[in-house]
Amino acid sequence: MNKNRMPMIAGNWKMHLDAKEAGELALVIKKGLDPDLEHEVLVAPTYTNLWAVRQALSGSKIILAAQDVHWEEKGAFTGAVSPTQIVDAGCTHAIIGHSERRKIFGESDEVVNKKIKAAVKHNIVPVVCIGETLAERESQQTYRVLETQLIGAFAGLKAEEVIRAVIAYEPVWAIGTGKTATPETAQDAHVFIRRQMEKIYGKDFASRVRILYGGSVKADNIDILMAQTDIDGALVGGESLKADKFLRVIHFEEALRAG
Ligand code: PEP
Repeated sequence: MNKNRMPMIAGNWKMHLDAKEAGELALVIKKGLDPDLEHEVLVAPTYTNLWAVRQALSGSKIILAAQDVHWEEKGAFTGAVSPTQIVDAGCTHAIIGHSERRKIFGESDEVVNKKIKAAVKHNIVPVVCIGETLAERESQQTYRVLETQLIGAFAGLKAEEVIRAVIAYEPVWAIGTGKTATPETAQDAHVFIRRQMEKIYGKDFASRVRILYGGSVKADNIDILMAQTDIDGALVGGESLKADKFLRVIHFEEALRAG
């Protein structure tokens, strides 16, 4: 982490929990937060649980996010949820381009770009996920893939439109596998991503944009990850479903803040 960038710890609850369970989890997290903690904390429940979690979080600074958003405002898009609908449900942020969306639902960089454009139009902060597969890493394609995903995601968007955007570097081979990238591997990728953002939007933007790491982040590896200068937070899947573990991730080594 770098003290000029506010850390963000985000929990992606994926397709887990019913509304009651999600509300209860949100409440325990809210109650367990150090009131002086300055990190941004975000949770992204399933759409159907947004209302319950919104109620549970009331009075707290925890950010409510959707796990995805469609690019159209309304219409015949069965199964999709629009930017206005997620705002209505209380969301200020949306995860966009998660590797599960890309892989299972076939989302292209073009679709990711349309969703980011729709999000910023509705004042929703996009948490833009990028990352390489194992085959891509093993064939030395990592940086080419990251570059292509970044160029695709931000195509046609001006710096001022995406100044609040957050990037999540999530190597696909590390998601849900228990194989966390080493802090050095993650740091290298984050430096590369920051350089690409500099090429697209300039130095000032690049020094301000927050880049989260995602991929088997746990209570027992968050401190070492956050000790890396260019890791500004974490996008956490499995571990964010366990209140005690997620609270430990959120309250990562406070001593690092002095650095
Ligand atoms: C994720 O879903 O974005 C993720 C990083 O999952 P996990 O922490 O379970 O690897």
